[in-house]
Amino acid sequence: ATPTALLVGTGRGAQLGILVKGPEVLESTRRVTTVVLDKTGTITTGRMSVVDVVPAPGVAVEELLRLAGAVESASEHPVAKAIAARAASQARVEDFRNAEGLGVTGVVDGVPVVVGRPRLLAQHGIELPTELATALAGSEALGRTVVAAAADGVAIGVISVADTVKPTSAEAISRLRALGLRPVLLTGDNQRVAAAIAAQVGITDVIAEVLPEEKVAAVERLRAGGAVVAMVGDGVNDAPALAAADLGLAMGTGADAAIEASDLTIVRGDPRLAADAIALSRRTLGTIK
Ligand code: ADP
Ligand code: MG
Repeated sequence: ATPTALLVGTGRGAQLGILVKGPEVLESTRRVTTVVLDKTGTITTGRMSVVDVVPAPGVAVEELLRLAGAVESASEHPVAKAIAARAASQARVEDFRNAEGLGVTGVVDGVPVVVGRPRLLAQHGIELPTELATALAGSEALGRTVVAAAADGVAIGVISVADTVKPTSAEAISRLRALGLRPVLLTGDNQRVAAAIAAQVGITDVIAEVLPEEKVAAVERLRAGGAVVAMVGDGVNDAPALAAADLGLAMGTGADAAIEASDLTIVRGDPRLAADAIALSRRTLGTIK
């Protein structure tokens, strides 16, 4: 391929809202067979809102929200933003820590608080009582992301957050399939939520409950199986996987770290442009041959 023709391709990309890091990127784009898509912020809007709050027996809803909201107000995660917005907690948090892909911890009015996946609570030796475990499973079956909260080593409730699928996601998946590509949903969220979201957009291959550092391993397993992998993501937690993929596509609406780690940036956060970018590079290179 001549450099001039490649640059024409990248110019057309810019018109469509696809920013290419360098002309050589088109070459790797053409070979892609499998497209791994992050869920939150890529397939879904990532704008979440609290839809259900279930306190543990004997705990007031206000107290659950005050403690959980205080810790979450220090986090940038979409789940955290939803909880902080709903709680509007005035309490201050000290010793805030982010457990990447799991949740957050901090001290509120001298009380140690943990908010996140049940796995994070378990790491702190905290179990969910049956009432909360049941509420959590029921909400997850509806496709919601559910986090648990604990104070002073005891579970105080679960909070359900709902995200919405982007209106263009289903169309993006059919465009990928029309190009003969295999879409795979990759998420740190639980199996039930992942399956519910995948079904809404027409994805059948789901890799769920992966920690951020495991996203790279998931991409590498697909590559080891012979796939040429494009990864589409938006979060700081997606950056290593974007770099590890044969082709990294970042949502322009996403984190700087994701954009820096990628080869292509999709300006408006519209996942259909991931398919369009691949189609465009095929056409561009096709005319050159
Ligand atoms: P995704 O891969 O869908 O973008 P993440 O890896 O960022 O998800 O997070 C995975 C899961 O970890 C979330 O679904 C949530 O259950 C939990 N989690 C992450 N950050 C937080 C937080 N700040 N508060 C509560 N839970 C969190
Ligand atoms: Mg994400």
